[in-house]
Amino acid sequence: MRGLTKRSGQAGDVGLVEWPMPTARAGHVVLEVLGAGICGTDLHIYKNEYKVTPPVVMGHEVCGRVAIVGDGVDPSLEGQRFVAETFFSTCGVCRHCRNGRPNLCLERKSIGSHVNGAMAPFVEVPAINLHRAPDNMSDAAASLAEPVACVTNSMFGAHSYVEPGQKVLVVGPGAIGLIAAQVARTHGADVTVRGAPSDNSRLELAAGMGFETSVVGDNLTDSSFDVVVECSGNAHGYADSLRFVARAGHVAQMGLSGKPSELPTDLICYKELTITSGFASTPCSWERAMRLINSNAIDLEALVTDRLSLDQWETGFERSFAGDGVKFVIDPQGA
Ligand SMILES: [Zn+2]
Ligand SMILES: [Zn+2]
Repeated sequence: MRGLTKRSGQAGDVGLVEWPMPTARAGHVVLEVLGAGICGTDLHIYKNEYKVTPPVVMGHEVCGRVAIVGDGVDPSLEGQRFVAETFFSTCGVCRHCRNGRPNLCLERKSIGSHVNGAMAPFVEVPAINLHRAPDNMSDAAASLAEPVACVTNSMFGAHSYVEPGQKVLVVGPGAIGLIAAQVARTHGADVTVRGAPSDNSRLELAAGMGFETSVVGDNLTDSSFDVVVECSGNAHGYADSLRFVARAGHVAQMGLSGKPSELPTDLICYKELTITSGFASTPCSWERAMRLINSNAIDLEALVTDRLSLDQWETGFERSFAGDGVKFVIDPQGA
């Protein structure tokens, strides 16, 4: 089978490579991949700004149908449609693993970066990582369960920072930002989404979802938001986050810039800010994400800009780099 592969530690060394069909070891399944989302992390992997073990098939946002079950796995899962958590293996014994935070395990190996991921017709994952995909949801939208779980980990994981009635600003209207905005709204926050002038179409989508929007250049009042969720991954966005958050407010970093940034850090002290983050997802954040998804509290279909075959991967990456659209999902079964 062909898989979209980060071939080496060189920036841009990505292409379709022939791999053997995966098998399912004990406790694992092989999924026939129906949708694999292109994520900001994949863009960083492309540019060699995120640690991977090459050569490796990319893709960690997956919806698929169980094709093979390994020993010890319920055979009735075969043929059923699931989404999957991203950690292929963790040590299981460190304090983070024992505390339900496998995302912080030093031995963590994830699909799409350390072991082969979902941008191929088949991917092997641990059976305990599976969550049933809602029947009424498309494969592409279901593959966005992973970014929802990243958002719920940031927002309700080690630090819970969204409460009813709060004014929340989401900086960066990409997939993570538009999911964060929706999740914050389901928890009673009054949400504004902010982007650059080039985010025009993304901000229109945000407005269509009923959010207040703001474009860089608009005069938002400084210090007017209880919470700012930084999802842009750029220094200007981060600086805006520190500027627009209220005194004693909360800034949560979700965006990654891939390089050191210059920031007005004195504001953290002057305003006595709390800065938290959220890296990837945890089993607990997946449970919350799946509850939100199953109750139709968030719209993921609207975030899917286009579905592409493996052969069209470059289009998906180019448009994602350009911020042209929100989420591109690869269908590795598509011609
Ligand atoms: Zn992702
Ligand atoms: Zn561990």
